[in-house]
Amino acid sequence: MSAESPSCGACHKQGSDTLKHCSRCKNEAYCSTECQTQHWPTHKAHCKRPNYILKFHLCPGTITDPPIWRTLSCPADATFQALHKALQIAFGYASIHTYDFRIKDMEAERQLEEEDSDITNYIMRMSNAIGDVEQQYVGARSFLRIVDPDTMKYIDRMHMGSRRHKETPEKMANRLKLHQVLDDPSYRDAPLQYEYDFGDCWEHQMTHMSRADNATDCFQCTDGEGHGVAEDVGSTDGWKNLKRAYRNQRPNKEQREKMKWFESFTTNMDPKGLGNGRDKVWPKVEINSRLEKMVGK
Ligand SMILES: [Zn+2]
Ligand SMILES: [Zn+2]
Repeated sequence: MSAESPSCGACHKQGSDTLKHCSRCKNEAYCSTECQTQHWPTHKAHCKRPNYILKFHLCPGTITDPPIWRTLSCPADATFQALHKALQIAFGYASIHTYDFRIKDMEAERQLEEEDSDITNYIMRMSNAIGDVEQQYVGARSFLRIVDPDTMKYIDRMHMGSRRHKETPEKMANRLKLHQVLDDPSYRDAPLQYEYDFGDCWEHQMTHMSRADNATDCFQCTDGEGHGVAEDVGSTDGWKNLKRAYRNQRPNKEQREKMKWFESFTTNMDPKGLGNGRDKVWPKVEINSRLEKMVGK
């Protein structure tokens, strides 16, 4: 049953060089398609896609000291909606805004950047976008955009139009499983980004680290760094200012108000604040206990 097995899983013929692994679980090998087909009714019960080890880094390069990232072991059969839920738990958000995943086309991004080096092009594009309801998106085309099925619930739906590009296909996050994207060779090497809250624009860059040895039913947070950001803090600058307030020996009135807001009022408030190095603290044990109880793949 192991990947090292030198014999065919069905007829047990030796010959490790010519055996082909089951493409789904990689745990079983066969000498021929006939053997694989014959063995499938038995193998089916054990054949599971191993988890993906995915790292999500929040605004890398902009949020530093400390950086904020989490690594998760993710079931391959989970949907992107479930991944969103897991990321909300892992980063400590309150799930009060909408989100999307985007598989970026770096060539399209580069082209747009080149066009925009002529400022006239940029201004024309922005002003066209305001008048054209069909084609409002002001960014580059992507390979795929994976969207929140519950998007109409949230206030940031007003930014929806600006996220759409007429040449970017869209799929619903609850209808798409991780392996359908992550194992698709046409998206290989294309960066994937998870964006939450189209007002504060929390961009999480995904890195596909590896495949796990096992397949599990729930997400697990294996590593990370940095306290998650406050909802509605005012994006990366607002977060920087909040940390600055906590580091100030004599915070001014505005800073004291901001700290009080973070400890008592914002939707993902932290009553302990960020003082004494707490901006580096993140609750791994609590995250994993919540991930274990998380319902809905
Ligand atoms: Zn065989
Ligand atoms: Zn298999």
